[in-house]
Amino acid sequence: MSDTAAAPQKFEFQAEIKQLLDIVIHSLYTEKEIFIRELTSNASDALEKLRHLQLTEKNILDDNLPLEINITTDDTAKTITIQDFGIGMTSAELVENLGTIAHSGSKAFLKALGESGQKNANLIGQFGVGFYSAFMVAKTVTVRSRSWRADEPGHVWTSDGSGSYTLSPSDGERRGTKIVIQLKDDATDFAADSRVKDILERYSAFVTFPINLNGKRI
Ligand code: ADP
Ligand code: MG
Repeated sequence: MSDTAAAPQKFEFQAEIKQLLDIVIHSLYTEKEIFIRELTSNASDALEKLRHLQLTEKNILDDNLPLEINITTDDTAKTITIQDFGIGMTSAELVENLGTIAHSGSKAFLKALGESGQKNANLIGQFGVGFYSAFMVAKTVTVRSRSWRADEPGHVWTSDGSGSYTLSPSDGERRGTKIVIQLKDDATDFAADSRVKDILERYSAFVTFPINLNGKRI
């Protein structure tokens, strides 16, 4: 980062998101592995949106990048990373999509939760709760993203899920989104290639884009 880079800005999650995160983090009964399905399906959605844009837009950033999903694990650092070259997000989109209840999955989840009148762990499995499922296994989640819009700079978003997140500009990002999860001590199995391979082999049939795990096609 250059010394002219802006300091990270701190933001509070919207109240509904705080509520949702609290349930996600403290619900011990859920299959934790679903976060891989959720983040892979978000990556796939972002690639699908990019593919559609390519039909009409002339000026797409990094237009030659492959429409693939790359997942890497680091057993020493205890991290798992999910990266796509999809549409990416501007800073405003990071705030809107990852900090508010505007989007579909989480909204439906909170609605169903309200109707059931209890913290029903089954609902978490049923809805997946999208992006926020990462916090079941994460000490911190870091999202580096850059929009397909050529005039938008990249940004890095980071949170430990406890009520706030930070956002700062980041130089040198390519188009798309890279999500790095620093795993909790009880979830370090997701830093093992074999464990993640097993999960992806069960989900990848539903994903239309190529998925590479540690450089190998699933
Ligand atoms: P849903 O997928 O149901 O909309 P999620 O919680 O999974 O809900 O994701 C929230 C939103 O964040 C998505 O709708 C999308 O706008 C944005 N998002 C998440 N992951 C990515 C990604 N990899 N690339 C671009 N946008 C993303
Ligand atoms: Mg989703």
